[in-house]
Amino acid sequence: HAADLDALLAGLNEPQREAVVHGDGPLLILAGAGSGKTRVLTHRIAYLVGTGQARPDEILAITFTNKAAQEMRERVELLVGRRTRAMWVMTFHAACARILRADAHRLGYTRQFTIYDQADARRLVKRAIDELDVDPKRFTPGAIHHEISDAKNKLRDAEAYAQMVGSFFEQTVADVYKLYEAELHRMNAMDFDDLLVRTVNVLELFPEVRRRYAEAFRHVLVDEYQDTNHVQYRLLQLLTGGGADGRLADYGHRNLVVVGDDSQSIYGFRGADIRNILDFEDSYPDATVVKLEQNYRSTQTVLDAANAVIRNNRGQREKELWTDLGVGDPIKVRELDDEHAEARYVAGEIERLVDEGVSRSEIAVFYRTNAQSRVLEDTLVRAQIGYQVIGGTKFYERAEIKDAIAYLTMLVNPQDVVSFTRIANSPRRGIGQTSLSRVISWANTAGITIWDAALDPDSVPGLGTAARKAFHRFMGAMRILGERAAANPPVGELLREVLAESGYLEALEAERTIEAQGRIENLEELVNVAAEYDLSAENSDEGPSLAGFLQQIALVADADGRRDDEGLVTLMTLHNAKGLEYPIVFMIGLEEGVFPHQRAIEEGGLEEERRLAYVGITRAQRDLYLTYARARAVFGARSYAARSRFVDEVPMGLTDRSEQPAHGVGSVRARATTWGSPSPNLSPLGSGPIPGGGWDASGGSAGGGTELRLGDDVFHAAFGDGVVTGVEAGGIVVIRFSRDGSERKLVADLAPIEKR
Ligand code: ATP
Ligand code: MG
Repeated sequence: HAADLDALLAGLNEPQREAVVHGDGPLLILAGAGSGKTRVLTHRIAYLVGTGQARPDEILAITFTNKAAQEMRERVELLVGRRTRAMWVMTFHAACARILRADAHRLGYTRQFTIYDQADARRLVKRAIDELDVDPKRFTPGAIHHEISDAKNKLRDAEAYAQMVGSFFEQTVADVYKLYEAELHRMNAMDFDDLLVRTVNVLELFPEVRRRYAEAFRHVLVDEYQDTNHVQYRLLQLLTGGGADGRLADYGHRNLVVVGDDSQSIYGFRGADIRNILDFEDSYPDATVVKLEQNYRSTQTVLDAANAVIRNNRGQREKELWTDLGVGDPIKVRELDDEHAEARYVAGEIERLVDEGVSRSEIAVFYRTNAQSRVLEDTLVRAQIGYQVIGGTKFYERAEIKDAIAYLTMLVNPQDVVSFTRIANSPRRGIGQTSLSRVISWANTAGITIWDAALDPDSVPGLGTAARKAFHRFMGAMRILGERAAANPPVGELLREVLAESGYLEALEAERTIEAQGRIENLEELVNVAAEYDLSAENSDEGPSLAGFLQQIALVADADGRRDDEGLVTLMTLHNAKGLEYPIVFMIGLEEGVFPHQRAIEEGGLEEERRLAYVGITRAQRDLYLTYARARAVFGARSYAARSRFVDEVPMGLTDRSEQPAHGVGSVRARATTWGSPSPNLSPLGSGPIPGGGWDASGGSAGGGTELRLGDDVFHAAFGDGVVTGVEAGGIVVIRFSRDGSERKLVADLAPIEKR
């Protein structure tokens, strides 16, 4: 045991050790990224349990994301084994949900209360707006919901809010807030903010509950403390023995350890109050303060870049961070034509890295908003690179999406019993399990397709009258849809008809629930996906077809559940990346308006965006890529943006930049029309190699050919589909072919290549 503890402490530097062995009372660690704050927390938990100072179930450790909680649990488990099970290592929201399952009945909820996610909550707000006849153009549901959420996080209920109203907007919010709360309660539901607010309510209103939890958790530890907001602050106070009046109760222990970094405060938009950490010493004058200055995560180059960026914020506490991990490689800054080329570039680099022996699990791609992941996902699927999306929802796994796809599948494949089974009674139309089995076995017996068997239910032995009628009705609609499909209409249109004819949409609309409305929105997104497919397939040889669409979908959906030995590339938003680390990090979409986000630019949120950039950069252990696109689709329209200021804030000397100063430079041209015939007017290419980059060729003067750039999709007459993974001097392009995964160097102008 003693040996274990020695080993535990041996892996720490002096100030870290001081924090780990710290006795009772409040402790603050305010230190920069990668300095071992989270490590101190995990080691302290292990130390407390290992020395017998605390039982596992006396520990409450709070993190910000589920992923972080999972990692912390794993780290502690490595140190103390299975005893971690009794510990509460979780997010604020998860801890509160657990407390409320036990005690929310005191507030008039049942134990089975529903938790509404942000989208559900937003829809409920919208319903309240409709009911109150508020002009939705004047005040959007989003804006009102945000304001309500803000109030909740400040522990202002609808009544308190109404008393402080000072403008027409606030009056509107007050009305909506009141109705929204009543509706939530009536539906026995809570939104995310409620989880925290109701827990505080329970603890404030019921002294015995307050006492129970404060006595249960002898040690409370909080990671990422810079991102706590007022309600969370209050919660921690109550859980460590603060009374309803804010004074310490006689059972209070104040064993509160908080760690954080003011440079990483990124939840101000959600009411996080940076003062919670900066004023910790004021709230707890007897707090011990520990500073950590050695970074164990990143190369000096990565650290220098992060420090240079954050220095542009005013009022930042200067932190001295150093590392002995060496200078490392320069940061790769890459400019691409559009978001598709950007995604292909990322995929190409990942393939190259994996070829070099890097595991996919060592690679992460960060983006500013969730919506940016779809293009990337589609590209990774085509390149057959396994990936996982953290914190995102798996679109193609949702029931309504699978149903819609099953309908479409039936129209091209009348034998597909699985799809048939899925849709026969969805929506409900009186086709039971037994009748369905009868039809299926009849199809088998008679040697006909399930479609044909269902078309003629009168021939199916043992089928009751009601069931026969139901099949007639169902297949009547399917037959009409089948005829439509045979005419090969645009898939987007066909899908819309399927959703209408099958009664699927109608059934959802009739439900009139928040969840059903969410399903309808997802189906609308699927129609978008189909329309997008129609558009892109129009330019291909085969043209759009239902079968082609289904094949494309199947590939993407399949990758959703993919697991393999080489691990998965991790995709997530920058907000979700907090606290994590990866050897190789890509930050994509570094464009003004995307990151920094347009709203932040307009509403004075730049410093928070910059802290988000700091968070992203400091996740990288070894290699960091910053990419941006010259143009991207925004709401279906092309838009051009300048490179993000954050890219420019990284000193030139730390980077390996390859940008395209003007159109046509940094690309080569391939003859598209006359394959194999050399172009007479191809000028010598090449302007000297740029280390690590692939932009060192220029071919601005060649005419008539197809420009090839890094990331372009191409078709080669012999090798098939491929992606340009390199552009070299002398008109050489490197292309990776998807058929066999080979990478070949070709003379762009001579090779039979066509740009897709
Ligand atoms: P962030 O601010 O990003 O959350 P952090 O301060 O929590 O960072 P950690 O994640 O705890 O930092 O540590 C960063 C990395 O450095 C981890 O891989 C950790 O294991 C390692 N590390 C920290 N301290 C030491 C140490 N004394 N010896 C060896 N490795 C260490
Ligand atoms: Mg951490």
